[in-house]
Amino acid sequence: MQQLSEFALREQLLVASQQLLVLGLNKGTSGNVSVRCDSGFLVTPSGMKVEAMSSTSMVKMQWDGSFEANKKPSSEWRFHRDIMQSRPEINAVIHTHSMFATTLACLHKEIPPFHYMIAIAGGDTIRCADYALFGSQALSDYALAALVERKACLLANHGMIALGRDLEDALAVCQEVENLCEQYWRTLQVGAPNLLTEEEMRAVFQQFKGYGNWAI
Ligand code: 13P
Ligand code: ZN
Repeated sequence: MQQLSEFALREQLLVASQQLLVLGLNKGTSGNVSVRCDSGFLVTPSGMKVEAMSSTSMVKMQWDGSFEANKKPSSEWRFHRDIMQSRPEINAVIHTHSMFATTLACLHKEIPPFHYMIAIAGGDTIRCADYALFGSQALSDYALAALVERKACLLANHGMIALGRDLEDALAVCQEVENLCEQYWRTLQVGAPNLLTEEEMRAVFQQFKGYGNWAI
């Protein structure tokens, strides 16, 4: 996808932001999205409603944190940058305050292997990163630690992050993680879930090899 022009990537970033709104995964000005581009990355603007965004609102950033004049990148540009710099296989990052992920994140709950689909996030848990102020370097550091060998994590008292090889993949991970969070939340209303064993999860990872879009 890095071969796409900057113009095309700006359009894709806009479409992804609009999809997050339509799917109810983000509301108002919460959340942000980024995509890798030539010599840096593009990120959504700070504090702007999706309805007011156009492809030119997207902010081009360099790895040193510098950005286009007269624009304001997402306050979370640090974790977008740090994730893409430390994970060469990742080309898109989505952050949401979606309802169920955020609910569990407010409880500082790690998602255990209660459902086999947890494997799509890369392991048998989805970790919850420690709390830090939004926009801070500490938040980025905690998120990176929670994302080791994972494509998603929760952010304590805040929301979630989903990663992908491109924006379509990141959106699919984001949707599925929110789905899993709702299922886990609903399960907890009734009782304690029966967790899958390590051996059962190993079989799931095996089964996912070469399985459609989720091929691990
Ligand atoms: P921005 O509008 O600055 O991207 O902030 C939204 C957000 O979710 C902060 O965590
Ligand atoms: Zn946020």
